[in-house]
Amino acid sequence: MKDPTIVPLKDMFLKITPTPMVQNDLTDIEKKHIIEEHFKIIMETLGLDLNDDSLKDTPKRVAKMYVEEIFYGLDEKKFPKMTVVENKFKYDHPLIETNIVTNSCCEHHFVPILGRTHIAYKPGVKVIGLSKLNRIVDYFARRPQVQERLTIQIHEALCYILHTEDVAVVIDGNHSCVKTRGIKDATSMTRTSKLSGIFFQDSMFRQEFLTSIPRTNEIYI
Ligand SMILES: [Zn+2]
Repeated sequence: MKDPTIVPLKDMFLKITPTPMVQNDLTDIEKKHIIEEHFKIIMETLGLDLNDDSLKDTPKRVAKMYVEEIFYGLDEKKFPKMTVVENKFKYDHPLIETNIVTNSCCEHHFVPILGRTHIAYKPGVKVIGLSKLNRIVDYFARRPQVQERLTIQIHEALCYILHTEDVAVVIDGNHSCVKTRGIKDATSMTRTSKLSGIFFQDSMFRQEFLTSIPRTNEIYI
């Protein structure tokens, strides 16, 4: 078998539904500094004592967490390296991975969306390593999101990387903004899906995928 080949990602983001952004050319260090200063003001405005031992480093922690962890997916340069290998078994049935941990953030309230993503694709001439599916999900989840856009971005990236339309993505999400505020519904789950190619056209493929997904009330978030 040939060595894995690196997928060129230069054009990928042109083909993916964008997250609304304005390019500001700030470095990560500059972003962290600005966020730290502004978060300090938010805390002071709320009346918190920033001289308190427990609170004094919170602005710095939040800034680091935003830039390096929960919003790293806003930086296209941080998209995981993608390699594909030849489909040497000529495997042509659905490849399904369920229950991929999906930690995202609601862009309306900046509180967590915690969920599970389920993916299927029918391999063409190339396949990717299973863990790459998890990495793609994590990358797009690490942006301020609405669940519909997250579903579509993951789907479009997979179609691009795998060179096929035979891709299906389902996300089950638990929204903290619904759970802990507003209506305070702790148990409702939101399911979104994008099925294309053979998963949209062929009921056998669609059924095999959909029946392999755990029922939402069986998913532990
Ligand atoms: Zn929200």
